[in-house]
Amino acid sequence: MANTRVAVVRAGGYGSPELCDAVERALDLLGGLEQFIPRGAKVFVKVNLLPPPSPPERAIITHPAFAEAVLSLLREITPHITVGDDVHDLRSFEVSGYREICARLGVELLNLREKGFTEVEVNGAVLDKAYIARAVLEADVIVNLPKLKTHSLTTFTGAVKNFYGVVPAGLRTRFHGDHPRPAEFCQLLVDIFSAVRPALTVMDAVVGMEGAGPANGDPREIGLVIAGGDAVAVDAVAQSIVGLDPLRVWTTRHAHDRGLGTGDPAEIEVVGEEVASVRVEDFRLPPAAGEVLGRLPRILTRWATQHLQACPVVVPERCVGCGACVCACPTGAAAIDGGRARIDRRSCIRCMCCHEACRYDAIELRTDSVARLIRSLEVALHRRRR
Ligand code: SF4
Ligand code: SF4
Repeated sequence: MANTRVAVVRAGGYGSPELCDAVERALDLLGGLEQFIPRGAKVFVKVNLLPPPSPPERAIITHPAFAEAVLSLLREITPHITVGDDVHDLRSFEVSGYREICARLGVELLNLREKGFTEVEVNGAVLDKAYIARAVLEADVIVNLPKLKTHSLTTFTGAVKNFYGVVPAGLRTRFHGDHPRPAEFCQLLVDIFSAVRPALTVMDAVVGMEGAGPANGDPREIGLVIAGGDAVAVDAVAQSIVGLDPLRVWTTRHAHDRGLGTGDPAEIEVVGEEVASVRVEDFRLPPAAGEVLGRLPRILTRWATQHLQACPVVVPERCVGCGACVCACPTGAAAIDGGRARIDRRSCIRCMCCHEACRYDAIELRTDSVARLIRSLEVALHRRRR
């Protein structure tokens, strides 16, 4: 069986040196960084810089201070480090603070599209082949630095979903259109994850995001570093901490069933803090009814999506007409009309890409009473398993 040890360590905030100590302790509990990274190896570090640009205090991205704490330790083992994500606006590197920390540490900062993408065999549940960023494929070792957040389509985004950023942006948008059912979309995420398989995951759970994540939820202090060699197990522990049943989260369920990691908490060895002692009791989940939607027959998908899934609604007084939602929309349902965004409900597949792309809080997710009832049942089922 793979190493299913996951370290959970308290971290008070993003101020050094306390955070560096917490990261170091987490890695020590796992047996030390060299358990995962050979000396002198070429390392690619995948951070979450979810576009468009956003500053770290919004809790949308992996905090640069968190990345810096991990990178400082990596630098003691190897000088060959590249940090990156795929961004369409290079201001992401400045606004996030990554340009500054990478310059200070002397490590390369890369926009993945600069080096292009290579087609690889995946033989997954949805994809036979996938285009993966060349810089990721060329690394000896991949280190994964996800952010703990809710996700309005997939319920949770962390270690497994962080690798959606290694496929080209155009395909990411198309995949949402081609695979709108959450369960199927999560199989696709796991297909991509299976082509990458990081050696080490260190999750930024110091301040996470609750509510309508991954971009428009609320920052939530969690105060933890969660790390392990099994990314699926890291997700499972993080999900348990915020009150989710990991085997009811599609990414974890599929990855577990496909033998890509361990998603069952009963099979995971947690070291450091016990899950029960750090649980966030009132963590707010997103409004989506993804689990029920995923279990319905395909023939009901269109009806169920329209009635059970949260619906994006533009708040005109906050909309600045920037068009980010239009670029992100896979179906053309979002458009600019009279200087403001407008969403055509009939062609909207509720993929939440517009909501994720808007940095002005100008798209709200609304649900009707049936969807709210189903969602509260889903939440109760998640919280029953403790
Ligand atoms: S809804 Fe948001 S992303 Fe869309 S145009 Fe308005 S401000 Fe921009
Ligand atoms: S309007 Fe938003 S939720 Fe609807 S299809 Fe377009 S991006 Fe997806």
